[in-house]
Order: sequence, then structure tokens, then C-alpha cells
Amino acid sequence: MSLLDSAIVRLLPAVPKPVVQRFSARYIAGATLAEAVAVVCELNAGGKMATVDVLGEEITREDETRGIAQAYRDVLAAIEKESLDSNVSIKPTALGLGLSYELCRENLLDILGAGNFVRIDMEDSTTTDETLRLYRELREDGHDNLGVVLQARLRRTTDDIAALADLRPSVRICKGIYLEPAAIAFTDPEAIRVNFLACLDALLDAGCYVGVATHDEWLIGESLARVSQRGLGREEYELQMLLGVREERRDELVAEGHRQRVYVPYGEQWYEYSVRRLQENPAMAGTIARATAARLLGRGS
Ligand SMILES: Cc1cc2nc3c(=O)[nH]c(=O)nc-3n(C[C@H](O)[C@H](O)[C@H](O)COP(=O)(O)OP(=O)(O)OC[C@H]3O[C@@H](n4cnc5c(N)ncnc54)[C@H](O)[C@@H]3O)c2cc1C
Repeated sequence: MSLLDSAIVRLLPAVPKPVVQRFSARYIAGATLAEAVAVVCELNAGGKMATVDVLGEEITREDETRGIAQAYRDVLAAIEKESLDSNVSIKPTALGLGLSYELCRENLLDILGAGNFVRIDMEDSTTTDETLRLYRELREDGHDNLGVVLQARLRRTTDDIAALADLRPSVRICKGIYLEPAAIAFTDPEAIRVNFLACLDALLDAGCYVGVATHDEWLIGESLARVSQRGLGREEYELQMLLGVREERRDELVAEGHRQRVYVPYGEQWYEYSVRRLQENPAMAGTIARATAARLLGRGS
């Protein structure tokens, strides 16, 4: 990424919302459940599984958190009705973690009641302890249809894997999107990759089911080599990617016989998620800069 591009990426929050919306459309299934269902149907028809995310985070009103929980129950009902191969992913702050731990727990229990598998996404490091506490408590209460996410960026993650090992958790391992201070996180991309593989090894050693969530070609190769060295069968791991990212590679991996799950976000609150995706897209910064300049100069939308 050029210096200009990285400056633009930092300035993305200042880019007009319609420009962000235009460029991020590929990452979002749509505003409505019907649109999300259509995307999941198409993915399933192409041999991929899905996990649906109702967009919304850092929610500050209790009634809004209940609204999100209801939206998830609607998603789960649609998955059941249409016999879709999909589970759901939830963000603790969307269910009210920022308001109270108990509220978040109650909302999550509501969603778990439907019986489908629910994965708790991992948000920034201020939420890690409570997210892992929530996971442990619910698993100890017998909710086995629950998985969690761990971030290779964080220095604590190998310790967290050791601490969770008795639960044999289902874990999505990812690099971690939230930029964290060097005191608690690896900041060098190579160090994050190395820790990703160390975490994957630790999870597989602990007998965990792992969702390997990355679009990084080197990491995909190294992860699949580990899976193969351990003689794991097709049902004993999965690869995961985000909607709108590296779709051709995703199809190749499915054709090679790997199970692939696609993260399908939908909903009205598309903005924060979209900015994060655009910030990660190495080719996008310059394009957005040109579109923003054209818009500000009154030449196009
Ligand atoms: C299914 C899934 C669930 C996730 N859940 C969480 C979570 O709960 N918590 C969390 O902190 N993070 C989560 N993430 C995000 C993750 O932590 C990374 O920030 C993200 O995946 C980018 O890292 P990468 O491993 O793909 O490597 P990168 O080095 O960022 O990307 C590798 C290559 O992929 C392509 N690419 C990556 N992103 C884009 C993009 N937006 N547009 C176009 N091309 C792109 C580019 O070719 C890039 O060079 C999730 C990721 C996935 C795939």
C-alpha cells in the first residue's frame, strides 16, 4: 500500500457515506432478511455453508439489543424453514455487553434456545475477558451449540486456548481486525501470521474443531498442510471467508474438497462493518479517493 493509500485508509471515516456504501456493497448481503436468505441459498447451491451476522454493534439501548436478538430469532426461523446450511454469528456488544453482562447473556440465551449453532464473534480487547467468561459459563450450563472466536493478533491467545482446552471449544481462529496496542498485541504482520499458526497448532492439539478464517494465501496453505499432516477428515475442520472477498479462491478450495463457510452480514447498520472491510482491502483506497474527489468536485456520485 502506498503512503497516499494508507493515509486515505486512515481518513476513511471522513469519506461520505454514499461513497462508502457504493464500494462496500459486495461485503453486505443487503438490508433485509430476505436478501440475506437469497445470498445463503446461492452459497449453499454452490456447495458453501454460511454464517449470518445481523449488523449492529456498540449498541447503547436495551430495547435495541432486544431488537437484535429478535432479528436473530427471525434468521434462525428462516434457516429452519428454508433448510439452509447456515448458522449465526453474534457480536456481544450488539446483544448489550456494553450495557450489562446479564443483558447480553439473557439475549444470547434467547438465541441459543433455537438449537442451531451460534458463534460469538470476538470484538476489541476491552471485551475479551467478558466474552470468554460468557462462553465458559454457557458451555458449563450445557449449551454445546456455542462457539467462540480467538484472535492471533493478541499475545494472550495461546494462554486463552490453554485455559479453554477443558471445554474442547469450537473455535474460529482469525488474525483479529481491531488494532490493539503493542503491549497486548503483535503489530508486525509476520508475527501475527506466526502466532496464527501457533494458535492453530494448539487448538488442534487440544482436539478442538477449528474454523480457519483467513484470506491470506500463505496462511491457507500452511493451515491446510497442518490439517493434512494430522490426517483430519473433511468434517473435522472448516475454512471461512467473508462475503465479497476472494470468491474465486473460495470456489477453488471447495472444488478441492474443503468445507468452506462464508460470513454473511446483513441489516440496516452497515456502516461500521463496511469501513473495516474497506480498510482491509489493499486495492480499494486509491479507488475510493478518486470517487470521493469526483464527488466533492461535483463530478459523479
Ligand atoms: C469468516 C471470518 C470471520 C471473522 N470474524 C472475526 C471476529 O470475530 N473478530 C475479529 O477481530 N476479526 C474477525 N475476522 C477478520 C479477521 O480478523 C481479519 O481482519 C481479516 O480476515 C483479514 O485478515 P486475513 O487473514 O484475511 O489477511 P489479510 O492479510 O488482511 O488479507 C489477505 C488477502 O486477502 C484479500 N483481502 C482481505 N481483506 C479484503 C477485503 N476486505 N477486500 C478485498 N480483499 C481482501 C487481499 O488479497 C489480502 O491481501 C473474521 C474474518 C473472517 C474471514
